[in-house]
Amino acid sequence: MTGTLTGRTRVVAVFGHPVRHSLSPGMQNAAFRELILDYVYVPFSVSPEDLPAALGAVRALGMVGANLTIPHKERAVALVDSVSDEARRIGSVNTVHNVDGELRGYSTDGEGFMRALEAEGKSAEGSRAVLLGAGGSARAVAYALAAKGATVTVLNRTAIRGDELVSELNGVLPEGRPPLRSVALNGPDARREISDADLLVNCTSVGMHPDTDNQPIPSEWMHERLFVYDLIYNPLKTRLLVAAQAAGARTANGVGMLVHQGAIAFEIWTGLKPPTDVMEQAVLVGLDTTTVGR
Ligand code: NAP
Repeated sequence: MTGTLTGRTRVVAVFGHPVRHSLSPGMQNAAFRELILDYVYVPFSVSPEDLPAALGAVRALGMVGANLTIPHKERAVALVDSVSDEARRIGSVNTVHNVDGELRGYSTDGEGFMRALEAEGKSAEGSRAVLLGAGGSARAVAYALAAKGATVTVLNRTAIRGDELVSELNGVLPEGRPPLRSVALNGPDARREISDADLLVNCTSVGMHPDTDNQPIPSEWMHERLFVYDLIYNPLKTRLLVAAQAAGARTANGVGMLVHQGAIAFEIWTGLKPPTDVMEQAVLVGLDTTTVGR
């Protein structure tokens, strides 16, 4: 926002449950201010049963759109008027754009991850990637990597969840892409998968504040040919990243993905390229002021 609300101010919302720790309002409003756009981004705590009404309000109030976060991303697919190809394939919507009353749904998480990876100089095409986790973020990241031509193995604690994710994603991958595989995180083959890989992505919540003393795999599994991307951004340096760096691996934390998924949403709403450096700075300030125990 520009600092003053006017009769022409355009409103973007984020719906989550809970939403109070979201860093997106600080990040998006910093970008609106930087480009002197008369837009404001407002958080709303929306319970799952109120999601249809909240999306209806986007239309009724003439809002520009909304972001959706936990626990709304999957359910929203059936509640918007149309969905992008990627959102349909992965069954998740995190960005809604209101175009003359038509609510269009997008998923920017996977592409946000890819942009963050590329910004670190790591290409997905032809890489051997291992993903830890099989939840919502793993779904978006695994699909994006596989669609770009990476060979993807999912390692999950609950092996059946990993199997289900892989089988679903293999059913929707664009033709010609190598199928994903699933291996139990606690099984005998997990370490070998990582020793053969050049990209390791942590999509579990292990190591996230306040669980900062834990890591999803043992430090000895790290090696110097790995690029290790941790989706976690609080703390900025998880135990996993500390272990990776000690083994000589290159690393990045989840700030880049957070910024780039937001940047793509900003482009959808405004048609403009956002200032990603300003957005990143706002995220870092938000982490400093709103969280404890980093
Ligand atoms: P989620 O859907 O709840 O999935 C959590 C995953 O973590 C599951 O696969 C779960 O395995 C695994 N897990 C949890 N505790 C574990 C443990 N003790 N040992 C091994 N595995 C464990 O969560 P999500 O939405 O995908 O988010 C995951 C992380 O990514 C969170 O830290 C979140 O903040 C972060 N994230 C970051 C961004 C970003 O922009 N940087 C975006 C989205 C998410 P089971 O199946 O066995 O339970």
